[in-house]
Amino acid sequence: MINFNQPHLTGKEAHYMYEAVYTCKLSGNGRFTKACQAWFENRYGFRKALLTTSGTDALEMCAMLCDLQPGDEVIVPSYTFVSTALAFLREGAKVVFADSMTRNPNLDAGALEMLITPRTKVIVPVHYAGVACDMDAIMAVAKKHNLLVVEDAAQAIDSYYKNKPLGGIGHLAAFSFHETKNITAGGEGGLLVVNDERFVRRAEIIWEKGTNRAEFFRGEVNKYGWVDMGSSFLPSEVNAAFLWAQIENIEDIQAKRKMLWNAYWERLKPIADKDYFTLPDIPDYATNNAHMFYLVLPSLEARTAFIQYLKDNGVGAVFHYLSLHSSPYYQSKHDGRVLPNCDRYADCLVRLPLFYDLTMENVNFICDLIEKYYR
Ligand SMILES: *Cc1c(COP(=O)(O)O)cnc(C)c1O
Repeated sequence: MINFNQPHLTGKEAHYMYEAVYTCKLSGNGRFTKACQAWFENRYGFRKALLTTSGTDALEMCAMLCDLQPGDEVIVPSYTFVSTALAFLREGAKVVFADSMTRNPNLDAGALEMLITPRTKVIVPVHYAGVACDMDAIMAVAKKHNLLVVEDAAQAIDSYYKNKPLGGIGHLAAFSFHETKNITAGGEGGLLVVNDERFVRRAEIIWEKGTNRAEFFRGEVNKYGWVDMGSSFLPSEVNAAFLWAQIENIEDIQAKRKMLWNAYWERLKPIADKDYFTLPDIPDYATNNAHMFYLVLPSLEARTAFIQYLKDNGVGAVFHYLSLHSSPYYQSKHDGRVLPNCDRYADCLVRLPLFYDLTMENVNFICDLIEKYYR
């Protein structure tokens, strides 16, 4: 059986985790946490990077920093993971769902303006499959209407929009190090990125349970206490140690994933050219970080049969994202607009196995099966 996903170990994880344990520094914000955060700040030019216990938590921190009032509206794509919307809903916001583009699942920047009302406060672009949304267009709309932009960059590590790193463009951003992402902090983990100076101090306080403890540790104040809202968002050093081992190998991880991704593309392009399905779309302004290889089939029935065929032949292919606007929880709160592209991806998109330890033999085996299916 070729699984859909399998977490990758670089070999140094246990060593660094042992080191964290052995030096008796287990709680957060120690040596490994600082090393990971500094790496992100230096490599991508992020103003401030804070490790979190998950991508969901990083999004929740973003939502708290946006300082939303009841009735404020936040524009979120409907074709995304629950957390993108949930983080803002928890803060009392009204979530207004945006449709995807025809060419790929990212939100349609050209259709943003008609969703904006006097209550709109935030736009949350999700870089689906690590492929950039049209950030110039989104930032221009945000500037015109004085809105904040929070990038859900959960899938977008080491990916770029017109040479700008994703997560470094909006006012705030969130990454995920869940085991299904390109690098992991040992199963669960995330990162909050603050690009707008106005939010740096408050982000650190929210991260540290509403206290100014981080400033105290840096010697900037001589005692610390409760100064704001917050929660326990920082991960243990053990998770940071695991993540550090993955960060050290990022070039190797990315190169291998891209090689596998390109192999899928080469083998499946001729079948896509016969209109059996479409391949991932990467606009000229975006790079590919090989987070995901997906196909879009013509119908729900075609997809169901295709997934079953692969399963019968030992390959774990999966679909995902039931449209959030028609979910059991949000359906009655949604304003009734039909979001056709979103529904099409929910019905027709299928993800093929893609992980570091997948082999070229595996990819060829999967592509042989697909060829045979359409012959
Ligand atoms: C994975 C993911 C999240 C959530 O990240 P967790 O670390 O699992 O909490 C949020 N948004 C998107 C688009 C994701 O892919």
